[in-house]
Amino acid sequence: MENIDWKNLGFGYRKTDYNVRCYYRDGKWGELEVSSSEVINLHMGATALHYGQEAFEGLKAFMGRDGKVRIFRLEENARRMQHSCEGIMMAQLPEEIFGRAVKLAVSLNRAYIPPYGSGASLYIRPLLIGTGPEIGVKPAGEYLFMVFVMPVGPYFPEGFKPTDLIILRQYDRAAPQGTGKYKVGGNYAASMVAGVKAKKGGYSAVLYLDSKEKKYIDECGPANFFGIKENTYITPESDSILPSITNKSLMTLAGEIGMKVERRKVPYEELPTFEEIGACGTAAVISPIGRIFDADEEKEFFYGKEPGPWSTKLYHKLRAIQYGDEPDLHGWITFVE
Ligand SMILES: *Cc1c(COP(=O)(O)O)cnc(C)c1O
Repeated sequence: MENIDWKNLGFGYRKTDYNVRCYYRDGKWGELEVSSSEVINLHMGATALHYGQEAFEGLKAFMGRDGKVRIFRLEENARRMQHSCEGIMMAQLPEEIFGRAVKLAVSLNRAYIPPYGSGASLYIRPLLIGTGPEIGVKPAGEYLFMVFVMPVGPYFPEGFKPTDLIILRQYDRAAPQGTGKYKVGGNYAASMVAGVKAKKGGYSAVLYLDSKEKKYIDECGPANFFGIKENTYITPESDSILPSITNKSLMTLAGEIGMKVERRKVPYEELPTFEEIGACGTAAVISPIGRIFDADEEKEFFYGKEPGPWSTKLYHKLRAIQYGDEPDLHGWITFVE
């Protein structure tokens, strides 16, 4: 293993030593298999390639000051993957297999877990694909579940800093009654044109409005949205947003630090009333938002060049639990031997 510069890792694919695989054949899941190959052998007719039978997860493991390895909210991710499987008719993966595979992948690649204090972590990418060949549109008869991991750098190597979002009404990432609530590759394919356009303009992501009426805030490309005002943490309620586990955790913590928490429809008109805005997800925990540009109406909303006090407090609190600096009062942590 080469020497890794933990602080300058960024977020990208990086080879580690092992990955874990599990096959579904003849109506049942097999044993976990450990592989050191980065490639898979796939039938050219696999439904994952033609009809988008693919779901994934993203979670992290952290090295604590005490030398213990902590995985954040493993069970929640296992459950969400099951919902994704239901949503696109794939064989459901038992939570127990998900948990064992993730823990095994982390422990086999222990050497790649960034040291405490580097701000980096081990990103875990489980995915499940339809491998059985079908040319008529129907669910595959065979599936492959895989887990691979890679060290990723701190999301904010130069410090916790706001970025900007853009509203582009001509693009939707998900249909009103569609698959937006499942963590499936198809939603990401649908969001790439708008996402690249946003990046080219210097924005970190697109802020999507609800695709039916364009009246309410949905979410930001790959992260959930929250706004804060009058000591209240407010996050959209919608059938087409992906239920972020980070958001769920922040709602719990917000309540604990004395905020009110509201999950409800957030009308576009409410944007200028927020004191703080953030995007939340596993990658960054919180990405504070400094400005939203509405490209269609040529309006701008400003939230400050520095992260707001509540966002900063929530960010540090969640990170402290992940690294084991604060006690895990909710059973969010799974230790890995
Ligand atoms: C994964 C994801 C998120 C963030 O979810 P976390 O569980 O917090 O990582 C938000 N939105 C979309 C569309 C996602 O795919």
